Amino acid sequence: MRKARFFYEKDADVGILGDKVIGVIGYGNQGRAQAIAMRKLFNLNVIVGNIRDESWKRAEEDGFKVYEIGEAAGKSDVILLLVPDEVAPQVYSESILPAVKDKKHVVLGFASGYNIAYGFIEPAPNMDVVMMAPRMIGWGILHRVIEEGKGYPTLVAVAQDVSGRAWDYALAIAKAAGAMLPGGFAVESSFEEEAVTDLFSEHTWVGAMLFMFRTAFEVLVEAGIPPEVALLELYASGELVEIARAITEIGLFEQMKLHSRTSQYGQLTRGPRYAGEELKREFKRVVEALKDGSFAREWALEQKAGLPVFKRMWKLVKEHPIYEYERKLYKMLGRIKE
Ligand code: NDP
Repeated sequence: MRKARFFYEKDADVGILGDKVIGVIGYGNQGRAQAIAMRKLFNLNVIVGNIRDESWKRAEEDGFKVYEIGEAAGKSDVILLLVPDEVAPQVYSESILPAVKDKKHVVLGFASGYNIAYGFIEPAPNMDVVMMAPRMIGWGILHRVIEEGKGYPTLVAVAQDVSGRAWDYALAIAKAAGAMLPGGFAVESSFEEEAVTDLFSEHTWVGAMLFMFRTAFEVLVEAGIPPEVALLELYASGELVEIARAITEIGLFEQMKLHSRTSQYGQLTRGPRYAGEELKREFKRVVEALKDGSFAREWALEQKAGLPVFKRMWKLVKEHPIYEYERKLYKMLGRIKE
């Protein structure tokens, strides 16, 4: 087992970025948060590359110089590719590579390991290839860094080091984007590790949680409980958010002490029923499909085919009664509009 290496504020030097132009390509969740943090914390020279859409306007409103993606890449020494993973290979090959292939050296930064890990992007030989993958959504970065002056956890990795300083760049990007402010840190990882662990959660407990709630809803309603009461009990009340927060702050099992003894007894005796050897075998199958690339191939083929399974699954999800009941309840509670 590899022991994780942690990096803190003192381990990174943003000086290496001081005389560089940083091109944030894609002004979305991550792009906006990282660009604003870098400018605010270290006054770095950040420019934005985007398609001409709402995000372009938003970047201008936020005070950044915005260019077509290829033009921004051409002007940049450090290129942070922060477009959705599905479109990144095309953006890279059509707009970025032509603009930088003749340069002596550029740094290409990612916020996820997916495209390098599965070979959808093959970096050119003049590139340091680094990853700074925040364990935090963009909104959370803005909130913590800008409003609270706090850091956040992030994974950092190097896939290609032509300058001999790729690690310095990876750590500097993390620090510049606010990760290493108090409470935050970077953890050494790899593109493969990031891709596998990120997808593992999505393929196991995250998806399972949604469909488990739906099954629970069906059973409770069949048992005569009003749908609204069932929804509030399962997730609509906001208690789930508080439990998640307590897990983060106190611990997975320690937070149970905030619940009644009856609740603790029920969780401790009934919980393990769902987590036996069969589940472990299934989880191992998931890891294999991520490590051998078969999920990545399946998803790439699905996108090439025009997303037939994806669209069909969304249709089925919307046809289930829980969807309609939830929409009605959330409208009644003023959470969503008509
Ligand atoms: P977004 O979905 O927010 O999109 C980023 C930007 O890319 C937007 O400006 C978007 O424009 C633009 N874009 C969309 N399609 C295209 C296209 N075909 N060509 C060019 N630009 C396009 O991405 P995220 O910020 O969520 O993700 C960026 C990276 O960060 C990914 O690698 C992701 O895995 C990683 N990441 C994301 C996290 C998050 O907070 N969501 C957390 C940690 C890592 P438009 O606004 O018009 O769609």
